[in-house]
Amino acid sequence: MTTDLHTHSRVSDGTESPADLMRAAAAAGLHVVALTDHDTMAGWDEAAAAAEEAGVALVRGIEVSTCFRGVGVHLLAYLPDPADAALQAELDRIVVGREQRVPAMLARLRDLGIPATEEALAEVSGGNEVTGRPHIADLLVRLGVVANRDEAFAGYLTEGGPAYVDRYAPDLLDMIALVHGARGVAVVAHPWGRGSAGVLDEAAFVVLKEAGLAGIEVNHLDHDAHARDGLRRIADRLDLIVTGSSDHHGEGKVGHDLGCETTAPDQLQRIIDRAAALGSPTTVIGGVIGEVR
Ligand code: AMP
Ligand code: ZN
Ligand code: FE
Ligand code: FE
Repeated sequence: MTTDLHTHSRVSDGTESPADLMRAAAAAGLHVVALTDHDTMAGWDEAAAAAEEAGVALVRGIEVSTCFRGVGVHLLAYLPDPADAALQAELDRIVVGREQRVPAMLARLRDLGIPATEEALAEVSGGNEVTGRPHIADLLVRLGVVANRDEAFAGYLTEGGPAYVDRYAPDLLDMIALVHGARGVAVVAHPWGRGSAGVLDEAAFVVLKEAGLAGIEVNHLDHDAHARDGLRRIADRLDLIVTGSSDHHGEGKVGHDLGCETTAPDQLQRIIDRAAALGSPTTVIGGVIGEVR
């Protein structure tokens, strides 16, 4: 059984619709796929209908932007209750913060002589619920300023870059508690990828686990073999779930093909069992793993 627990659709900064993403997951031979758009559950319903049809099992998730000791950390939330008002209110606050930063970033680019308008941005990002720097990167590509998203980040959009503007992000510990309270399963995304390796040592994971953390995303392209070994050891010692994923963004992220990194079946089962034990009303939808519905 092949399981990919972290993908993005056009609802955030991927390039495929949720339905197309589910069809692509089935075509790539995945049995189980999680949709984890940034800070929103808006793609869940479309994905669920398409997953059922395509014969792939859907784990409904979110990748939440948080902050820990001054550093940005992404938190994957699996199978939370979409009706949980406290979680939804905090997601809304993040999305509002994202929307507020966009005009400020475009203004910075215009100060640099680049004709980055809201109208031009709407043409490249069309239809997304959550706007991120990758959409502004796509605009820079469209305007011929850079060749691809990576160059746009390196030259303009990365933290501290000339067009970077900060935005609201909740504290990681608070968000873990909110996800847990919403009866979802919290897993730190790519903890030793860009930026957050310095703050997420074993002592930090002890604190995160006390707050309700369930797992660590170990198998991710941002982690080399040494990082994976270290994280796996921490997960073993702290009895945390070990996951893996492509962090697929469609055309938006080169090399992150669906299923290029995966989660072991027993670890997926731990996620499902934990959500069930917490009383989550959100089940895994459709596809071939009938026993976990
Ligand atoms: P934002 O959500 O606006 O903070 O932007 C974060 C998104 O940008 C994530 O999906 C990352 O995958 C992507 N990202 C962050 N840094 C880079 C980078 N250096 N090159 C390409 N994409 C990046
Ligand atoms: Zn993304
Ligand atoms: Fe991420
Ligand atoms: Fe991601």
